[in-house]
Amino acid sequence: MTEPDAGTMLAAVYVGDGVLTVDEVTVPETGPGKVLVEISHCGVCGTDLHLVHEHIARPGTVLGHEWAGTIAAVGDGVTDWAVGDRVVCGPVPGCGACRACRMRRPSVCLRRPPVDHLSFRGAFARYVQADATRLLRVPDGLSLRHAALTEPVAIAIHSVNLSGVTPEDRVLVTGAGPVGMLILAVLRARGVHDVVVSEPAAARRVRALEVGAAAVIVPEDLPVPEMGRPVAAPFSVAFECSGHASACESALDQLDFAGTFVFVGTGHLPPRVNHNRLIILELSLLGAYNYDPEGWQPALDLLASGALPVELLIHSEDVLLDGLGDAMDRLAAGDIPAKVMVRPEVLDPAGREGRTP
Ligand SMILES: [Zn+2]
Ligand SMILES: [Zn+2]
Repeated sequence: MTEPDAGTMLAAVYVGDGVLTVDEVTVPETGPGKVLVEISHCGVCGTDLHLVHEHIARPGTVLGHEWAGTIAAVGDGVTDWAVGDRVVCGPVPGCGACRACRMRRPSVCLRRPPVDHLSFRGAFARYVQADATRLLRVPDGLSLRHAALTEPVAIAIHSVNLSGVTPEDRVLVTGAGPVGMLILAVLRARGVHDVVVSEPAAARRVRALEVGAAAVIVPEDLPVPEMGRPVAAPFSVAFECSGHASACESALDQLDFAGTFVFVGTGHLPPRVNHNRLIILELSLLGAYNYDPEGWQPALDLLASGALPVELLIHSEDVLLDGLGDAMDRLAAGDIPAKVMVRPEVLDPAGREGRTP
């Protein structure tokens, strides 16, 4: 097996036009207050798919933010962490004082620095650099592979908390991709049992039943309501996780009086919102972006508790760096019913010898 030259590592690099390639890139500097983490696993996020398939990412960037790993080096001034510690890296905390933070919405803190998705240096690579102050320890007994689900679980917890859902609610989840599936799992762990999942891909419908959906349907089966009236079997809460305009419109149509709609999936085309229906049924529309003020610790705790069917939420076959582009295509097509985990290795390291960089 050939390791890259000292100071370089293999990474899946976005080269433009929706294409990823495996290349040698410089290992990030550890720097004061930073640690260098050797990645165990990094999940593929819907955001990564958008950045690649819609050609949004800047060529030369390395994507991947849903990672867990082991500290390989610590920078100057880092005293709380040591080489060998198993970690995930939580979000930038909010200021705690602005209007958004006081409303328990630190991910939209008014004083946060602008997000730069374009020059992202992510974890579809062997190493990533992280802020020591943002690290969380992975509990003993929780594998790093499972801990790599921490970020999307934190998102699912935030969406569920924002919605105010209770076990008495009848809930619709549209889109059973990784995020919809995680929301379903978190709902079940919270004792919410009447959850119906609408999903066009057969493999994902089967998986949603295994994860605990009370029923699954295809989107075409969602009825069209009469004007100003709920459908025959309406829902009190809907989580829209597909990002498709037609799914948004249809999910809105399924809500009961005083129902709550949570937008979770981002998408290319905006839906048409029937304002008359919102008014007459007094519906609430919410957007759920990132995390609760408690950050990722509740997600780590939930993963470590064993209350989530993690093996159903993660695709059984890990993907290597050179399989990432293909896995992204299959995810976008709905062929894979769960979160894909990338291991920062290549299929044939020896085959990379003698290659001109
Ligand atoms: Zn993500
Ligand atoms: Zn703030």
